[in-house]
Amino acid sequence: MGTKSREVIWSGRIMGAKIHAQGARERAEAAVREADRAEAEAWSVLMEGYGGPAQPSPTIGQCLNSGLAWLEVECARCKIRASLPLNAIRRCKDTPLWKQEASVKCRSCRTSRYAPPARMIKLTETRQITPYKWVHTSEEL
Ligand SMILES: [Zn+2]
Repeated sequence: MGTKSREVIWSGRIMGAKIHAQGARERAEAAVREADRAEAEAWSVLMEGYGGPAQPSPTIGQCLNSGLAWLEVECARCKIRASLPLNAIRRCKDTPLWKQEASVKCRSCRTSRYAPPARMIKLTETRQITPYKWVHTSEEL
């Protein structure tokens, strides 16, 4: 077997292996996305239908990966609801969603001494509610 044909055989096998690896990686990523989506949806249904428990919850990163990138919250005092974009939260993507609840405050009810709690309602794919200025405390650091 000449050098040339050996090269052809091996480069073909390497290429094949690379394509195989790439395909496997894409399938793995799709599987992770599907799992994240299922988890995010399950949590969202639990919150919307039963009001919780919020813990355990998927992480911010999982929600973003799943395509459910908006969190709908409700102010405990004035009952105004807002859709918050999860990709705007400057937090580690590994932070569980439920930890956000304490950081989210309704701007119109918030005073310097007290802010009523916000309740997480559900996750959505798109903004469901017209923009309303809410405060995320991590933005004030
Ligand atoms: Zn309020």
